[in-house]
Amino acid sequence: MLIDAGQFHGHICPGLAIGVVASDIALANARRSEDEELVAIVENDACGVDAIQYLTGCTFGKGNLVFRDYGKSVYIFLNRVTGKALRLSLNHSVIESNSQPSDRILLARVRDGTATREEVNAFHVRWKQRARDVINCAETLFQVKPVNITFPEKARIHDSIPCDTCKEQVMTTRIIRSETGDKLCIPCYKKTKE
Ligand SMILES: [Zn+2]
Ligand SMILES: [Zn+2]
Repeated sequence: MLIDAGQFHGHICPGLAIGVVASDIALANARRSEDEELVAIVENDACGVDAIQYLTGCTFGKGNLVFRDYGKSVYIFLNRVTGKALRLSLNHSVIESNSQPSDRILLARVRDGTATREEVNAFHVRWKQRARDVINCAETLFQVKPVNITFPEKARIHDSIPCDTCKEQVMTTRIIRSETGDKLCIPCYKKTKE
């Protein structure tokens, strides 16, 4: 699962592994979502969300991936078939116990481009190792509990009409009425306010 998700994500990293474990827990009671049977609510937009999209089929494009910008390592999976929802909250202590002080320094040097070729290689090896450590801690990685939650509405398809300024088609739910009665897309409306 980690290697497959890594193909989609572009690299293998501990964050991706967190998403792999979350997906594995979600898929223990559900099938991969072909349509919208499963809904994922994610409270961050980091690496792990790519694993969730790839492995569970809860994707941005299908509308069964809901992003809440809370900056928390929390993942909620709702199963429309069973009506049940599971909330997964990361035990950060597990991640910390697998990390070394040198990891942070290495990451900083790779990020700001000052790492030598040897350091970049060492970083890739180390990050794959840390991803495997995350998988090995799967049992204790999350606090998992059932939650009662209102299911989000299924994705709907809306009609589109042309914007009065740029003439491009816009979903009716995103049209803004200007003070002069024009029907405008959001960028054109913003320009009238500049
Ligand atoms: Zn990553
Ligand atoms: Zn426009």
